[in-house]
Amino acid sequence: MHREPYTESDFPRHPLMFYYEVTRACDLVCKHCRASAQEEPAPDELTPEEGLALIDQVAQFERKPTICFTGGDPLKRADLFDLIARAKERGITSALTPSATPLATFDAFRRAKEAGVSAIGLSIDGPNPEVHDAFRGFTGSFAKAMEMLDYARELRLPVQVNTSITRRNAHLVDEIAELLEGKGVAMWSAFFLVPVGRGVEEVRITPAEYVEVFAKLWRHAQTKSFAVKTTEAPHYRRYVLEQGGNPLAAPKQAAGGETVGRGGRARAPLGVTDGRGIMFCGHNGEICPAGFLPVLCGRFPRDSVIDIYRNHPLFQALHNPDNYKGICGRCGYRRVCGGSRSRAYALTGDPLAAEPDCIFEK
Ligand code: SF4
Repeated sequence: MHREPYTESDFPRHPLMFYYEVTRACDLVCKHCRASAQEEPAPDELTPEEGLALIDQVAQFERKPTICFTGGDPLKRADLFDLIARAKERGITSALTPSATPLATFDAFRRAKEAGVSAIGLSIDGPNPEVHDAFRGFTGSFAKAMEMLDYARELRLPVQVNTSITRRNAHLVDEIAELLEGKGVAMWSAFFLVPVGRGVEEVRITPAEYVEVFAKLWRHAQTKSFAVKTTEAPHYRRYVLEQGGNPLAAPKQAAGGETVGRGGRARAPLGVTDGRGIMFCGHNGEICPAGFLPVLCGRFPRDSVIDIYRNHPLFQALHNPDNYKGICGRCGYRRVCGGSRSRAYALTGDPLAAEPDCIFEK
């Protein structure tokens, strides 16, 4: 397995993270769902054989990315544990993002761990059932998410908690951070809304409010037991650097109480963003730069994910921040930030356009 740190020179050759949306089926109806998930699997979902072949192909990147098995709800896919086991056989590290439904049992987590999953991602969007359940559209979802945290801790599976930040909960960031403290969370990722899928129905916060939220996140990053990062808001990295901080500080404590010193765990280098260190394959084999950047660049198995990552014109353009436009193109932080390419696309139709929700100027 490749153990050298992933660096800037790796961006054009291999992704750091490969997101495989194993299914769109999910029993929840979350308000911001990227996948506009549905109850039953789509008829064009990759077959079990094709799913295994996809993993075999990902393993052929000379530097193997981490695969995140996502959805929909990946637990709705009958052969999920076979896919996880294949990734492990091929020397690929994997993570799983189950939905908070009755399918997410202790036994399912145990089987996932035995098959080879090394981390769990789960969503908590409010500090209490009222906020979270309204967001997720499912009464009992908050309680289930809390149970899932307990399962992961018991199994010593590191957990990344993902929180979608919208107008509904931006004022509750501190309360959510307090909720997570002491729960064995390794990483808290604040996801800033990209208006795709059902996310168009949610109201995103203003650029100035981003900075207010960044300030809170940074304070919690320095004082809580978990590390903090953002998703689809890379300008948080700029904010932290300007405060004299290190946006890559490692988790201080992993699930189960294992201590991990600062710098003791490899983290993504600065500058990982949609199509630059990130690649996405949909349930039907559609290949895009990211799940929130639905520009079709190829289709597995007809197309090779390795070839698309290295040679597709959009991926090549995204690999180099000098190609970004507007304030991002002239920003001195474009190599460590670069803005959300997904939000740029969602709001302008151009994935290379300036980040619409950044107020920083060079
Ligand atoms: S202008 Fe673009 S690259 Fe610069 S900090 Fe803002 S989002 Fe990041």
